[in-house]
Amino acid sequence: MSFKEVRPAQDSLERYGIKNADAKWNLSPSDLEKITLEKGLGELADSGALAIDTGKFKGRSPQDRFIVKDEITQDAVWWGNINIPFEPNHYSSLKGKVGEYLSGKEIYVRDVYACADDRYRLKIRVITELPWSNIFANNMFLRPSEEELKDFEPDWVVLNAPGFEADPAVDHTRQGNFAILNFSDQMAVVGGTGYTGEIKKGIFSALNFILPHQKNVLSMHCSANVGQDGDTALFFGLSGTGKTTLSADPQRKLIGDDEHGWTADDVIFNFEGGCYAKVIDLSEEKEPDIFRAVKPGALLENIVFKNGSKEVDYHDSSLTENTRVSYPIEHIDNIQVPSNGKNPKNVFFLTCDAYGVLPPISKLTPGQAAFHFISGYTAKVAGTEEGITEPQVAFSACFGAPFMPLHPTRYADMLSEKMQSSNVNVWLVNTGWSGGAYGVGNRMKLKYTRAMITAALEGKLDDVEYRTHEVFGLAMPTTCPNVPEEILFPRNTWEDKDKYDQTANNLAKKFLANFEKFADYASEEIMAGAPKVSEKVG
Ligand code: ATP
Ligand code: MN
Repeated sequence: MSFKEVRPAQDSLERYGIKNADAKWNLSPSDLEKITLEKGLGELADSGALAIDTGKFKGRSPQDRFIVKDEITQDAVWWGNINIPFEPNHYSSLKGKVGEYLSGKEIYVRDVYACADDRYRLKIRVITELPWSNIFANNMFLRPSEEELKDFEPDWVVLNAPGFEADPAVDHTRQGNFAILNFSDQMAVVGGTGYTGEIKKGIFSALNFILPHQKNVLSMHCSANVGQDGDTALFFGLSGTGKTTLSADPQRKLIGDDEHGWTADDVIFNFEGGCYAKVIDLSEEKEPDIFRAVKPGALLENIVFKNGSKEVDYHDSSLTENTRVSYPIEHIDNIQVPSNGKNPKNVFFLTCDAYGVLPPISKLTPGQAAFHFISGYTAKVAGTEEGITEPQVAFSACFGAPFMPLHPTRYADMLSEKMQSSNVNVWLVNTGWSGGAYGVGNRMKLKYTRAMITAALEGKLDDVEYRTHEVFGLAMPTTCPNVPEEILFPRNTWEDKDKYDQTANNLAKKFLANFEKFADYASEEIMAGAPKVSEKVG
């Protein structure tokens, strides 16, 4: 097969320790698709999307994410079990091995950008062992023009070698797989895992250091869209809370679905050039924009076909709950070009509360906003394991602790300041359970969550009456267009009111216990935004 390559003037890979490789530079996605099919590494779905299996890893592995501790990072990074330090000399030898591993192989090189605001553009070279990982890089990052590729010289380089296994005893990793960031070298080295999200989140983690620490830009784990009047909305939330789903709104232009910056002059810009959506239980009826984005060019991960066909069975979670699709943002109809917004007006904190305690929508004071941002609460449900009915509480600072190299309060301070100077409304939206905890109640209907967000965005919740939640102190609207009133107060939806009060109290205690590690930061204003455990309820 002969393919059209676009090579930059300086095309040596030896500087990354890769020798005599058969490197294919900047192939078109359709050529990469042909190679993937030819090598038997993927199959075409009837939608025309390419389906691949990411191998042993079907999700990120946060315990194997390291940052090299060097002059740049040692005093700046918040070290601990999230940002795990790695010795520079151990890094050098491991990187050398990865380079050797890729040497002599057919590999794929792709030059891309991150950051839609030109002032902060990062040039990235992604070198992948597998052809479909290279399609992922093309889908997810910003795509340079052919002219721009000709004199491309990267700022950062990602080495991606799923087939390389580290030896923990020698290489100082935890196990065979690893993702290591090095800020002096400006490289992310990923081995032993084919999960594509490691590429995307590696660069995201780098930007979460570079932008706030060196460029005075707040970086955020959120989606963003813009309304007809040019008002921008942000949707923060941990995995599975609804960032991608809720930002795809036919009435508003999508800026991006996962990673954004907020500049000193109040521009909101997307880091990426594509979306990475969960497809478990995807249906055209509930999520039409995402469903229709699964077409030629899209890359499906870890899905299963219906018996004997090439039709995706979106309900099948036998390989993983975390089935995914990546696609260039142009696969969504209504997008903002370039991916920048101005005039931030509304910020939503999405949480999937499996206890059914938090109201489906409530309005936050600045103190509550800071408290909830630092807390980063959501719940994970052990839905796939037999007999497990108890949800697992998860607190992840800034709604994205695994990707935040700096101390959470650094991001929180910047966000508080920006939210107050732009005078934004801050809403807490529970996309999780209602009518009882997981096992008793049900997940909030997507159409109601959408209606609540629309109402907030259109100012329809500005002049309604509010009631205060007894434990969490949150202001809950008493009416909302297109939403049944009885679901607006969670206590109403529970048959057993005592049980609700108890569950709410227990959750409040968990919030407070989690916040203890931020005691130094607990100003009066922020603690006024914390829940109050009631003495009356056991
Ligand atoms: P990630 O950070 O992993 O990309 P995300 O925040 O983008 O996660 P989504 O991909 O939007 O999360 O996933 C939300 C999932 O929850 C979707 O599968 C969606 O269909 C489902 N869902 C069910 N009910 C709701 C609801 N009320 N609001 C939002 N999402 C809901
Ligand atoms: Mn998402």
